[in-house]
Amino acid sequence: MTDELSDLQAACSTCRICADQGLVAEAKPIFEGRRDAEFFLIGQAPGPVEHGLHRPFMGRAGRELERWMLRARFSSGEEFRRHTYIAAIMRCFPGPNASGSGDRPPPAAAIRNCSHWLEAELKLVRPRAVLLVGQLAAGRFLGPAPLDERVGQAFGSNPVLLPLPHPSGTSRWLNDPANRERLTRALDTLSRLRERCIGG
Ligand code: SF4
Repeated sequence: MTDELSDLQAACSTCRICADQGLVAEAKPIFEGRRDAEFFLIGQAPGPVEHGLHRPFMGRAGRELERWMLRARFSSGEEFRRHTYIAAIMRCFPGPNASGSGDRPPPAAAIRNCSHWLEAELKLVRPRAVLLVGQLAAGRFLGPAPLDERVGQAFGSNPVLLPLPHPSGTSRWLNDPANRERLTRALDTLSRLRERCIGG
């Protein structure tokens, strides 16, 4: 019997459209997860570490994300990854910023190219909760609004949409104590969702 998600993942792994269109230097789609994942995380785009290791959230942002997941009562980063499908608004590394600091934001054309992978995965995985990591992911699903009007709240029920800030450390958003409190509320909500979905 064919597994639609495996077929989709195989097709996505060979996607090169953004390289063909000159939007990235090298197309190497990065995502991971299983069909029975209860959680679905949507990030912005992989960075150079993820591009090199070909696995999502492996650099500094990944370490910070795993610290947040421990606060949400996952027993380890691996437990979080085992129960979470990890994708992104753009799943190939967009390249370095022209200024020389940080990564280039995902170009609009690449976001358009990539959106059908995300939509197809969400239909097949049917997660209980979707973690919208960063402004781009939150805006894509909830419409434009500042992060401080999103983080700390949950939206919808099937699946629950839970906005989070991006853990990359490049944003100053978490320098504000009120925003750190919003993150704590979001992680408390995630902790309750974790208990409901996987117990323990
Ligand atoms: S960013 Fe998405 S659409 Fe573009 S090449 Fe990579 S997988 Fe394909």
